Order: sequence, then structure tokens, then C-alpha cells
Amino acid sequence: MRRAAAVRAGFADCTRAGIVRRGTLRSTATPEIHQTAESILHLIPLPAFADNYIWMLHNDAGQAIVVDPGDAAVVEHALLERQLQLRAILLTHHHHDHIGGVAELLGRHPVPVYAPVDDRIVEATIRVSDGESIELTSPDVRFEVLAIPGHTLSHVAYVGDGLLLCGDTLFSLGCGRLFEGTPAQMLASLDRLSQLPGETLVCAGHEYTEANGRFAHTVEPDNPSLQARLREVAGLRTRQLPTLPSSLADERACNPFLRIDAGPVADWCRRQHGGASDRIARFATLRSAKDVFR
Ligand code: ZN
Ligand code: FE
Repeated sequence: MRRAAAVRAGFADCTRAGIVRRGTLRSTATPEIHQTAESILHLIPLPAFADNYIWMLHNDAGQAIVVDPGDAAVVEHALLERQLQLRAILLTHHHHDHIGGVAELLGRHPVPVYAPVDDRIVEATIRVSDGESIELTSPDVRFEVLAIPGHTLSHVAYVGDGLLLCGDTLFSLGCGRLFEGTPAQMLASLDRLSQLPGETLVCAGHEYTEANGRFAHTVEPDNPSLQARLREVAGLRTRQLPTLPSSLADERACNPFLRIDAGPVADWCRRQHGGASDRIARFATLRSAKDVFR
């Protein structure tokens, strides 16, 4: 039986929550919510540290999973507040702000920890690689694993139920820094993510949208979609609300790192010192300019 309308829930700690229904996905006016048939999943970005999000998914039976729990206390608080039981942990990459809370959580919750093949993630119990699927039963979710090197070499994304959990690879209006990978690797990873359906909800690891937006605006000041997104972002941040999840369609329309083939972005790259002979060079130019942008 199909449920009627999506519900939007606000929480005292200023997080936005969304509802995911399984089956036929449709986008809604509020991109943090999507709905499909049958069971319901709630999607919640838990703010942690200065600008991280720990993504939590839970069903109405009180069963939850978290992605990149850098801070155990944040997760414990959310579990307690919502009366949830932790059932699994998913990790996208080895950086401490994404895995730092795992050991402490495991002390209280003996749950599987899905992580990419990387010795630096010692708490992993199930290693995942590109093309594999993860099927969880409670909550009932299924993710495909995508290898997306660039920010780090072993970085993965989890894609399923209309969600893209992409860690520090794709941000709203930006992308992650190249700590380990090459521009070619990162571009290939972003190209992969960019091919997902437009209604896919981008659940990124950081609230960087406003700063990313300032850079994006210098690259494409005349992009009306970007201008609209910047207005939306300013409104959300004024109310201390997350700008995530965003939709992949919005990112394709606004995020310069997904738009290196767009005329204005290519022109901007060509005008920079160093030029931009091909798309990898354009991406490298764009990424290095963002590295020093203030
Ligand atoms: Zn990172
Ligand atoms: Fe991070």
C-alpha cells in the first residue's frame, strides 16, 4: 500500500529530517525528503564537530544505521533521543572525523562495521569493494558500493534507495580536496557520481555549501540555477539548517566540479594561469583554484 504524502519533521537540535519510502522514487519540493512505496526510512543529518554530518537512517521500528560516525557522543544522543537501536555502521573513508567514534560505539553496540579495504580503518568488520552490494534487513536497506578515489585512495560511496552517501568526495557546490588521489582519479569518481539519477539525494560529509557557493559564483556568476541555489543556501544557513541533502540534479546544474564541460566553466578554466587543455586539466585548474580561494 502506498502512503500519501511525505512528512517533514523538525527537531529541536536544528537538524532536518527526511522520510524515505521504498519503491518508486519521486522528487519533492523539499529535496531532503523523498518517498517511495512500502516501508519508511527517516534520513537525518546529525551535525558533529564544526561542520561534519553523521548521516543516520532509521525505520519506524526504531532500528538505525549511521554513516561516518566521527563522534560517538553525537550518535548516542540521537539514539537516546529518538529511542533507536543501532544496527550497523557504514564508513566512506579513513579520516578521523569520519571514523573517530566507531571504537566507542562498538563498545556499547556490537554491530557490523562496513568499510573499504584500508588498513587504516582497524574497526572494520566487513570490507567492501566496488560493485558489491550491502543488504541490511533492519532497517531494510540495500546499498551498492562505488569506489570513488580522489580525496583518499580507498574512498567509497554507498548508493541505494535514492540516496548517495558520498563522504568527502562530492559536496554541495564543491568537491573534496585531493589528499591522496590525482585529478584524473577524482574527476573519474565525480563523473561516476554525476551519472546517478537526478533525484538522488546527495548526503555529503560536511556543511561546506556556503563557502563552496562563493567559489562557484566566481566561476559561473551568470548561472541562474546557481544563483537560485545560493539564495536557498543563504536562507537555510540563516536559520542554522543543513543545506543537505541536495539533489544530484541541482549539483549537475550548479556545482562547477560537475560542470567542467559547461561552456562558462571551461572558459573560466582557460582564463586561469596554466590554462586547461583537456577536461582533466580543467578539473585540476578548478580544484587548485578552490584550494587557495578565500
Ligand atoms: Zn576526509
Ligand atoms: Fe571529513
